[in-house]
Amino acid sequence: MIKYRLSCSAGHEFESWFRAIGDYDKQWQSGLILCPICGSKEITKMPMAPAVVKGRGSETPLPLSVGRGNEAEESVLGKLRAFQQSVIENSEDVGSRFADEARKIHFGEAEERRIRGNSTAEEAKEMLEDGVPFGILPPLPEDLN
Ligand SMILES: [Zn+2]
Repeated sequence: MIKYRLSCSAGHEFESWFRAIGDYDKQWQSGLILCPICGSKEITKMPMAPAVVKGRGSETPLPLSVGRGNEAEESVLGKLRAFQQSVIENSEDVGSRFADEARKIHFGEAEERRIRGNSTAEEAKEMLEDGVPFGILPPLPEDLN
């Protein structure tokens, strides 16, 4: 929508809305624009920039995300990747025996070393109850694919 300030030959000023820039000229040529005060068809545009109202929704951009994360997210992911990489390089993969091995190490039945692996929720709960220390590697986006 475009708003024009118009004035008639008698000097009456008024505002009128048009759907598009060309609409004013079309309506003016067709004699459709009348002064709302005196009905004169001798209308002229006032010398001012028309106010343009943008379409619905243009004022409030939607939060969208596409492709890579923003810098902050990438930074956090980078640290997580580095952390995970460090764990992987400096630990022994014991796979599903993790709970058993962690327990043995904790109770001094196995050589103290850093291990990684996986456990069921039940095993994790038992380790917590027994005070066996372990950490959970945060899942990275690529692991969730
Ligand atoms: Zn008038």
